[in-house]
Amino acid sequence: MSPLLVIFSAGFGAATAAFLPRLAHRLAVGRADGPRPACAVCARPFSPGFSGWVRAGAACCFGGYAWTTAAGATVAALLAVVIGPSPRLPPLLLAAVPGLLLAVIDRRCLRLPDRLVAAVGVLGGVPLAVLRPDRIAPALLAAVAVLTAYGLMWVAGGLGLGDVKLAAVLAMILGFAGWPAVVVGVLAPHLINGPIALFVLVTGRRQIMPFGPALLVGALIGLTAA
Ligand SMILES: [Zn+2]
Repeated sequence: MSPLLVIFSAGFGAATAAFLPRLAHRLAVGRADGPRPACAVCARPFSPGFSGWVRAGAACCFGGYAWTTAAGATVAALLAVVIGPSPRLPPLLLAAVPGLLLAVIDRRCLRLPDRLVAAVGVLGGVPLAVLRPDRIAPALLAAVAVLTAYGLMWVAGGLGLGDVKLAAVLAMILGFAGWPAVVVGVLAPHLINGPIALFVLVTGRRQIMPFGPALLVGALIGLTAA
């Protein structure tokens, strides 16, 4: 493990995550709604075009900025520790950016927007396919297997379609790391969400729980098994 690599990665994670609160606030809306045109608290409109989207710092008077930045730094540092100085690290660091955004949005409004799920798959999957062409077939097989299993869970109810798509994309990325990573990465989210669901049930706080954050953390754990 190289301390410099970990520090550099944490810096990248924090710097990119700093841009996420604004994006999360605008994209955490109902399924039928378009992106939020104005701050949900003070109703001040976001400027049109690029500057209304790409801006570091808190999303107007909405909090969570420090938390998001810390999460970005932590995830990136963990990836650097797990992957080490390998050409596989940059694509995973990049894929973690829309990954973190998905976790924040899913926690707020129980949605995993398709474009962000696709961004995780493209940013992580394409470079990994170039680096490890010998692993393309296992990666696709892992994605199809998880798509089928989670598709059945979706049919049975209890999972969102967004969860199914994200799980398949993450299984593909884990597939490039090897089968142990796929197995751990697929099982871990259930071990994470199980106790939380029990806690919610015991404390009587009936609410639908997002599964996206558990899927993403589970994938991170899966990479450690590679
Ligand atoms: Zn505001």
